[in-house]
Amino acid sequence: MTASDWQPDSWKSKKIVQDVVYEDQGHLGKVLGKLNRLPPLVSENEIRKLKKQLAEVAENKRFLLQGGDCAELFDYCAQGQIEAKLKVLLQMSLILVWGGRTSVVRIARMAGQYAKPRSKPMETINGVEYHAFRGDNVNGNELDERKPDPERLLGAYFHSAATINYVRTLLASGFADLHHPDSWNLEAWDLAHVRNPQIRKEYQAIVDRLHDALDFMKTIGADDEHNDTAMNSVDMFMSHEGLLLEYEQQFTQKGSDNKFYNLGTHFLWIGDRTRQLDGAHVEYFRGLANPVGVKVGPSMEPAELVRILDILDPDFETGKITLITRYGHDKIDKYLPGHIQAVKSTKHKVVWCCDPMHGNTETVNGLKTRRFDNIAAELGRAFRIHAQNESQLGGVHCELTGDRVTEAIGGSMELSADDLSTNYQTFCDPRLNYEQSLDIAFSIAKFFQE
Ligand code: PEP
Ligand code: MN
Repeated sequence: MTASDWQPDSWKSKKIVQDVVYEDQGHLGKVLGKLNRLPPLVSENEIRKLKKQLAEVAENKRFLLQGGDCAELFDYCAQGQIEAKLKVLLQMSLILVWGGRTSVVRIARMAGQYAKPRSKPMETINGVEYHAFRGDNVNGNELDERKPDPERLLGAYFHSAATINYVRTLLASGFADLHHPDSWNLEAWDLAHVRNPQIRKEYQAIVDRLHDALDFMKTIGADDEHNDTAMNSVDMFMSHEGLLLEYEQQFTQKGSDNKFYNLGTHFLWIGDRTRQLDGAHVEYFRGLANPVGVKVGPSMEPAELVRILDILDPDFETGKITLITRYGHDKIDKYLPGHIQAVKSTKHKVVWCCDPMHGNTETVNGLKTRRFDNIAAELGRAFRIHAQNESQLGGVHCELTGDRVTEAIGGSMELSADDLSTNYQTFCDPRLNYEQSLDIAFSIAKFFQE
């Protein structure tokens, strides 16, 4: 098929994996029709702005921070939780800006990160077979809500709309303004949770130097409150995995430049389980003018990676594709160099982003978790392997929350396996909590200094 054969629904002629089967097709049709009439959530101009920023990441002029929940729930669409997530992403990005002396592109896994791929469509609980939980836009985690319900697709749209609206409101009202005390009170980062005195000293040194730099800007007036400068607000883009193609199709329309945009979010990615070259997801993604991500794990053959880039980036647009690599701390040495060399043999200019979460998942005390040390090790290796291969790590992709959950082991607060049950909330993958997320930003700041 050529680009001219592509249509927002041409994916329907391809084999689909992770599909959701609805009993009531009439109901589904009505919901899809309604979604098609509802207004977009983002604009093509915003998408082009992000694309430009990602091109700068690919050219090593910026760093990408992408983060948020594994599975966003409708319940997370609440004032406190949205504020906490925005705050942790902003604080992480401030540390990264300082550490890397580079501007940061911020993309939240938010306002639509509802659908989840699962290893099995059904599961047996106490001898009874249920649909697996597929994310809030498909079914509920409660056992009596497991049947896929098309109405949840509308719920996804309205919760995305409310979330993105509140993020926009916060940013327009100065939440990211460096004068905003709640977001930026660096003195309040007391670092008391950092158990190891040596690490606390290192972090404190970074915070102090950051504080000095901000003071200096204030003194010279570079942060004039009344100036609409970079100090007063920031861009925050939204993203989710493009899994439910029937849903995504409804937001796909021709822009003023005659290209097709998905206006339901700024950035979408293809998951590691749905990236088959001849499959429905790759077919849908190849028609989008949005910047898109591709998850790359150990099962990706280098030649396959080249093929997927040729399909998704036929015009060799710098930064159009973000390769989100997720191997595991013990596998990255084996696979990343080959993938870097494969891409280097082509004309594709990609963003290389490290997802140090998905290859490091394990089960401890019956709970799905990740060890902070393994996460930090994969990230550190990604930096080094790129440098050794004359390539550049352009970003990091984390599953995190601003809330004080106990889902990942370790970090500067030294959460133990026994602490996991204290506040284990996720229905899907374990997230870094607020402190552990800042730990990741501090460790990247340290890699930048190396
Ligand atoms: C995810 O990002 O939550 C996910 C399912 O990742 P992957 O596709 O890399 O397994
Ligand atoms: Mn996940």
